[in-house]
Amino acid sequence: MDLGIDGKVALVTAASRGLGRGTAAALAAEGCRVAICARDPERLAATADELPGEPLVLPEDVTEPSAPRRLVDATVERFGGLDILVANAGGPPRARALEVTDDGMMDAVNANMLASIRLVQASLPHLRSAGWGRIVLITSQAVKQPIPDLAYSNAARTGLWAWAKTAAGDLIDDGITLNLLCPGLHATDRVAELGHRGRLGDPEDFGRVAAFLCSVHVGFLSGAAIQIDGAGTLGLL
Ligand code: NAD
Repeated sequence: MDLGIDGKVALVTAASRGLGRGTAAALAAEGCRVAICARDPERLAATADELPGEPLVLPEDVTEPSAPRRLVDATVERFGGLDILVANAGGPPRARALEVTDDGMMDAVNANMLASIRLVQASLPHLRSAGWGRIVLITSQAVKQPIPDLAYSNAARTGLWAWAKTAAGDLIDDGITLNLLCPGLHATDRVAELGHRGRLGDPEDFGRVAAFLCSVHVGFLSGAAIQIDGAGTLGLL
């Protein structure tokens, strides 16, 4: 299927490895002009060398409050516009619910809720002026089913989901869709660091689903939180 996004401009944050990298690779393979961000410039440049096309490399810490605007401005300056945003950031550390601290919660909310909101807000003028846009927020299956030892993630990501649900309704008449992707366990460095074993998803497959959510075919699919979890989430809603 032709996704119809050849030549569209896409910004993918936290994209030197893992799910962000898989998404950037899938969008680049569809002919998108892609900007990728991560903190380590050398690692990011090495990732860019492996992707189709000539990705724009933007070394930034996406959790810095001023970074989203710089990322969007640099993407628009290079490519002349912005059509697709895939917002991603690293995940918070492990903690059970009764162990959380104020500082830890602030960090998680900043990284896994506010950074995405800031990216959407910075991107919107460009998507609106194009009269078309696709926004995908990478979160976690935790928005459907809290994970007992990832209390920071549970709290911050469900806040983002609640925000996104109403934001999507405010954008649909502008031709802009906004959806969450909710990964279960995938074979990435984060999952290796957390020590998980067993059946894992492929970040490249994840990226192809993300690219479909950024396609021309997804005009009426908005305000959804879609699990990619190999049937790992047991909730019915
Ligand atoms: P990963 O650690 O493999 O890769 C994270 C990427 O983000 C890397 O490129 C890293 O350099 C970049 N990054 C991290 N913090 C950043 C920051 N502050 N600014 C810019 N770039 C930053 O992680 P992953 O497994 O691909 O996970 C991506 C997101 O999905 C995370 O939020 C994670 O918690 C979530 N998630 C992952 C899984 C999974 O199974 N992999 C499951 C559920 C949720």
